[in-house]
Amino acid sequence: MEKRTKVIATIGPSSREEEVIERLILAGVDVFRLNFSHGDHEYHAENIKRIRKISEKLGIPVAILQDLSGPKIRIGEVKEPFLLHQGEVLEIYGTRVHAEKKESTAKVYLEVPEVLKDLKPGDLIFIADGLIKLKVIDKTSEKVVAEVIQGGVVSSRKGVNFPGAELSIPSFTPKDEVDLKFGLDAGIDIVALSFVNGAEDILRCKEVIKQKGKGQPVFAKIETQKGVEKIEEILSVADGLMVARGDLGVEIPIEKVPILQKELVRIARKKGKPTIIATQMLTSMINSTSPTRADISDIANAVLDGADALMLSDETTVGKYPVEAVKVMVKTIKEAEKIYPYQLEKGESVSSDFAIAYSSTILAEELKAKAIAVFTKTGSSAIRVSRFRPKAVILANVHDVEVWRRLAIVWGVKPFLILEEKEDPESMVREFVTLACKEGLFTEKDTMVLTMGYPVGKEGSTNLIRVIKGEYLKDAGISCS
Ligand code: PGA
Ligand code: MN
Repeated sequence: MEKRTKVIATIGPSSREEEVIERLILAGVDVFRLNFSHGDHEYHAENIKRIRKISEKLGIPVAILQDLSGPKIRIGEVKEPFLLHQGEVLEIYGTRVHAEKKESTAKVYLEVPEVLKDLKPGDLIFIADGLIKLKVIDKTSEKVVAEVIQGGVVSSRKGVNFPGAELSIPSFTPKDEVDLKFGLDAGIDIVALSFVNGAEDILRCKEVIKQKGKGQPVFAKIETQKGVEKIEEILSVADGLMVARGDLGVEIPIEKVPILQKELVRIARKKGKPTIIATQMLTSMINSTSPTRADISDIANAVLDGADALMLSDETTVGKYPVEAVKVMVKTIKEAEKIYPYQLEKGESVSSDFAIAYSSTILAEELKAKAIAVFTKTGSSAIRVSRFRPKAVILANVHDVEVWRRLAIVWGVKPFLILEEKEDPESMVREFVTLACKEGLFTEKDTMVLTMGYPVGKEGSTNLIRVIKGEYLKDAGISCS
């Protein structure tokens, strides 16, 4: 049985050779993430070209996820790194100053100075993933003065977090807009936006996609306190979310992350939106071929929490064993899926679209169907079926190669067939069954459930559920060889 939970690998120096991309796809990577916090457009364009080439050669659909960096705030250049001790003072400027430490007072500047005006005494500032902790004690027009609560070494371009602070800078930055336009032209399939703090951030990003006449889904990376608080509002416009545990574990107390992960997945799934669990899933395999028990448990638990996709970052970008890491992840996913709670309850009231999706999964369960075939224009019908986690594989039949690839990230969905849109649904069904049978997914002994919209071609019009039994092959005169 193929795995149902999807695997995302971030591409980087360790994984961008064509030969490695090929081994990664064969090992089970469904989606490649391009991290726009690093690399220029030329670098990403080359990665896209290679991924497409190998995916076409293998005939396996993989999606490309463009991860926009968002307002990742960093301190500027520090020529000579210095050590801060508890009780000392750090002055943070909005203009380029020479970063240095003199006696017990040090100074640095921020690359995104706009945030300084939002800070007030009492706010926390974390540097280098929370290693150094400071508290704002004073503010003037040119600088913020903070006292060191927990010391450490300050060096160039270290990341800065402001846990809990009310920042007014939008998450969709001018750089993100430029990067997104590049990505859309280069043909990325899915977008993820970092540090999303509200619906507005997603809407701005979607506006650019719409202006380009495109329809890529946008995932909200939840990695701030504010993002957690605004989750309902964010999910009302985002197409999915990522539990971005790296920054989230800095912005909120780290011990809250595992519970929050469960909570975020649960909330998103109720709305039928896919989720990604990210960061430090297999850190122990960055430098070693043997993972820790803790990492393996984390993967299994993320599967059981109900994630659609699990993501590898450093493991595949700079790690020594990218392919081995994917193999270990896939094996662990498959084991967890043996005890997976398939066929979820409907829950509270659902819309008629979800009612049809739910009914198709119940029918598939009752008839022990091998597959649920979904004929879908935008892919949303397949996502809705996935929401109920059927045991049967979800075969997505679409008309558009972009939609086909996008579905690679959704739990249990096998992007299957790209069909020409025809007036006559029967000929599409026939074409589909013929291919399913040729691929060994349907035999005379099998049953399949199929959903489609009639008349064909209208968006969001799924209104038919049909059962196709093995006899269909004979009746329709289909030969599978
Ligand atoms: P990043 O996002 O890798 O782009 O920082 C993921 C995270 O913060 O967990
Ligand atoms: Mn992050």
